[in-house]
Amino acid sequence: MEDTYKIILDEKDIPKRWYNIQADFPQELEPPVHPATLRPLEPSDMKAIFPDPIIEQEISRERWIDIPAEVLDILKIWRPTPLVRARRLEKFLDTPAKIYFKNESVSPPGSHKPNTAIAQAYYNKISGTGRLTTETGAGQWGSSLAFACGYFGIECVIYMVKVSYEQKPYRRGMMKTWGGTVYASPSERTQAGRKILAADPNSQGSLGIAISEAVEDAVTSTNTKYSLGSVANHVVLHQSIIGLEAKKQMAMAGDYPDVVIGCHGGGSNFAGISFPFLSDNITEGKTTRFVAAEPSACPTLTAGEFVYDFGDTVGMTPLYKMYSLGHSFMPSGIHAGGLRYHGASPLVSSALKHKQIEAMALQQMECFDAAVTFARTEGIIPAPETSHAIRAAIIEANKCRETGESKTILFNLSGHGHVDMFSYEKYFSGEMEDFQLPGEEIQKALAGLPLRA
Ligand SMILES: *Cc1c(COP(=O)(O)O)cnc(C)c1O
Repeated sequence: MEDTYKIILDEKDIPKRWYNIQADFPQELEPPVHPATLRPLEPSDMKAIFPDPIIEQEISRERWIDIPAEVLDILKIWRPTPLVRARRLEKFLDTPAKIYFKNESVSPPGSHKPNTAIAQAYYNKISGTGRLTTETGAGQWGSSLAFACGYFGIECVIYMVKVSYEQKPYRRGMMKTWGGTVYASPSERTQAGRKILAADPNSQGSLGIAISEAVEDAVTSTNTKYSLGSVANHVVLHQSIIGLEAKKQMAMAGDYPDVVIGCHGGGSNFAGISFPFLSDNITEGKTTRFVAAEPSACPTLTAGEFVYDFGDTVGMTPLYKMYSLGHSFMPSGIHAGGLRYHGASPLVSSALKHKQIEAMALQQMECFDAAVTFARTEGIIPAPETSHAIRAAIIEANKCRETGESKTILFNLSGHGHVDMFSYEKYFSGEMEDFQLPGEEIQKALAGLPLRA
């Protein structure tokens, strides 16, 4: 296998079932809590925003869940995705480490996000939903959901964080091309948006605010449900297809990862590549390390607290036990828009709390340095979010150069950066800067949470 570069699975070998880590966690998950009663959430409480099949998956403890044929049929447009041995990057770094990446950038919207968008649009369609609302940060999720809704004839309404709406007109164009309707958030369309604008007419928006708007629109409109692009258990479930494919491909390469890396915004692509391997640590005693790479400007896992917090800014969603910077946290305008979220997946949070995974915070500039190195060696221009995973992989590979160890590193290439060239321009023109979030701001944002000890 000395010359292997791309490891390609046959279309017939696409996984037919998703993997649910809830079946294998030795720890108990603390349940979500109703925002008004502060009692554990009942599945029926979710009916206003999710269709029944999604609610079932959200709470399921089944290890394997069948992927419907209608979903597989569309996933096959770009799946299985390639696993690539980054030989040119290895050579450039002069490392004895072997570096593999799973290329999720080959989907039509350009990231891992349609893996769950297609599934969610399908389950909404068979449940009779005619209209779906959602939020989007950098625009990858909004474009993925618009793409997915198009296949199932569902109307798609997207609240896009204002700073991205202005910085990323091409993402907006993609959403419209696939039939979606896009509003800059905060907007005047919802009570939540009007409340934020009254307090700060120049608000640049945040994912938390956009979620409030999308949820409010869903619960106050007819035949409308809400769709979430990360964080939730069912999203983590749908993304397991990444790691399941990667496991087959690593076996084809005759290898197994010592370290698995993903960038971390809400946790879905990190969990997607990691959990099928973490299953082997839990059930077979393997000792693979898992590293979630997040921005220092939004250090949810490394500087946040493991608390019950709301998923949105206004406090409309249930409270989830998760690592959080506080739902009122306002992230600085770093270019990795998809990583600017105050919370994290409860499943990823639990894995971190129980030391089954690790987290690392990285500065924006070192990540863009890594992105450019990657583009000049492996050819692919990565999304700013993805550059965090690449930077973390390079740090691991450099450690191997120092110690002489030949570790096998696997990272998820969550998306390409073709629609993020504005950010690369800022980097090349020297206008980009690093941000560090001061601890006092985190404490301020966490103060006053209803269930905080
Ligand atoms: C949305 C996004 C992320 C972050 O979301 P997760 O749920 O943490 O995976 C990372 N990379 C890309 C390319 C994205 O679009």
